[in-house]
This record gives sequence, structure tokens and C-alpha cells, in this order.
Amino acid sequence: MSDGAAIHLGLVGSPVSHSRSPEVHAAFAAAQGLDVSYELLEVGEGALDHELAELRAAGFRGLNVTLPHKLAVMDHCASLSERAATAGAVNTLRLEDLHGDNTDGIGLLRDLQRITGSDVPGDEVLVLGASGAARAAVAALQGAGVGGVCVANRDPGRATALAADLPGTQLVRYDELELARYDLIVNATSASLGGELPPLPAQPFAGIAYDMVVGRGGTAFTRWAEDRGARCTADGWGMLVEQAAESWVTWGLPRPDTGRLLRSRGVASS
Ligand code: NDP
Repeated sequence: MSDGAAIHLGLVGSPVSHSRSPEVHAAFAAAQGLDVSYELLEVGEGALDHELAELRAAGFRGLNVTLPHKLAVMDHCASLSERAATAGAVNTLRLEDLHGDNTDGIGLLRDLQRITGSDVPGDEVLVLGASGAARAAVAALQGAGVGGVCVANRDPGRATALAADLPGTQLVRYDELELARYDLIVNATSASLGGELPPLPAQPFAGIAYDMVVGRGGTAFTRWAEDRGARCTADGWGMLVEQAAESWVTWGLPRPDTGRLLRSRGVASS
């Protein structure tokens, strides 16, 4: 922790060294003239209890939480926001009162709304994956009024558990997918992190393809979608910026102007 910083924030998880969150929070702080430190805190499984106590004692205001702690941290929360409870995962922790929140879903939704120019970013949406990020995505899409949200996941048990917690979710197997049914596909798997693709069929796809993974110059999934004829592709940079901004609000800090940061990277047109 840097001694001069007035507001201490950080990301706990393992691994965290690849995270681009520090540059996002540094940009927010600079734009608002605030003295903020945002540290990447490598915290392995089993070390969360001790680390949270240390960070609270050290005066940290808030944390983002990533793998492998997004579920385990719920046991440390005195209260949960409705969206954290719905998603079944916490990515934002306010340390003063140990309030857990999940800003992934709203972050994704805001980016999709910007890309599509619509409050309801699709009629028929396919979400790939069934883990924490997929749960937040499904909950946010359903909350926004998307009528048909379909989930495909390799592990059928994980998909069934998601559908049980989020009623109205349709399940589909990868080998029975008909991509032409969907106007938006959200890749909420971690496949692109390893340069891999989910087992998608070799069919044309003319809709919008969104990968939650942030990748410089695109991801394996956005390149796949471009090859299949997608009319628009995007990686998760806009989502990262939007969920970070929402975390500031949870931490009791002023809401950052995300448009400014997105415009500086050529993501937002207005
Ligand atoms: P998890 O590691 O928990 O997600 C695992 C999911 O990915 C499972 O559904 C798993 O399927 C699936 N998966 C992994 N590899 C493959 C593959 N090769 N083919 C098909 N499916 C695969 O991560 P999270 O849910 O927390 O996050 C998912 C991704 O979203 C991460 O890569 C993360 O970086 C990104 N993310 C981005 C954010 C942003 O702001 N841009 C915010 C949050 C997350 P199975 O169950 O079958 O094993």
C-alpha cells in the first residue's frame, strides 16, 4: 500500500497479475483528481480469511474479488445486494460493513446497450458458459427484458444448476445449436484466455458476438465470429470499465465517467 494514498482499493484473487483493472481505476482517479491506489493482491485459496482481516485493518475501502474467491467471499459478507444474491457470486466488497455486490451483470448490460443502441440488447440471446460470469450475464439480460436467454455449457450439471437458480433460462447442448436463431452471442466462458474456442458448430452467424475476455486485437471467439459473418464483435474491455465504475458507487465513491475512458480507446462513439 502506498503511504500517501487516501483511498485504498484492490483486487484479490489468483492469478491477478494479468488484470487490466489497475489502469481502469487509475484513469477514473485521475479524471476525478482523487488520490487512489488500486493494488493487485495475489491471494491463494485458504488465505482469504487472513487477507481480508489484514486489508480491513490496513484501512482498505473496497475490493474487487476474482477467481477463486467469488463464491467463498460470500461467507464473509454481512449483507449482499440483490444482484449478488441472484448471481450467486460477489465481485465487489465494501470493507467498512462487509457488503457484497456483483457488478459484472450491469457492466455487461451497459456495454451491450451501448453497442446495440437499445435498452434490450437482443430478442434471442445465447450465453456460452454457466459459471459465475455467465450467471451474472443471464440475470442481467433477463432483468433487462430479453425474452429468450439460452445457455450452452460443456458440463451439463453446471448448466442445470444455473437454470434452476435463474428460472426462464433455456438450456441447449453445443452439438444441437442453431446459431441463426440468435441475434447476440455472449461468450461467458474463459476459453479465450487460453486461445481456445467453445465447441461451436461450423455455421454462419450474422448477429453480434461479445466475448467477456479482454483481448488486445480481439480474441479467439471474436475472430471466429468475424470469420462466420458476424455484423459486430467486441471483447470485454467495455464491460471491465463499466463494472469497475459500478464498483466505485458500491464503495461510496463518485460515479466515474466511463464514456470518457471508452472514447479514449475508441470503444464508444458518443
Ligand atoms: P470461470 O473460470 O468460473 O468460468 C468457467 C466457464 O468457462 C465454465 O462454464 C466452463 O465450462 C467454461 N469453459 C472454460 N474453458 C472452456 C472451453 N475451452 N470450452 C467451453 N467452455 C469452456 O470464470 P468466470 O465465470 O468467473 O468468468 C468467465 C470469463 O469471463 C473469464 O475468462 C473472465 O476473464 C471473464 N470476465 C470478464 C469480465 C469483464 O469485466 N470483462 C468480468 C468477469 C469475468 P465447463 O463448466 O463446461 O467447464
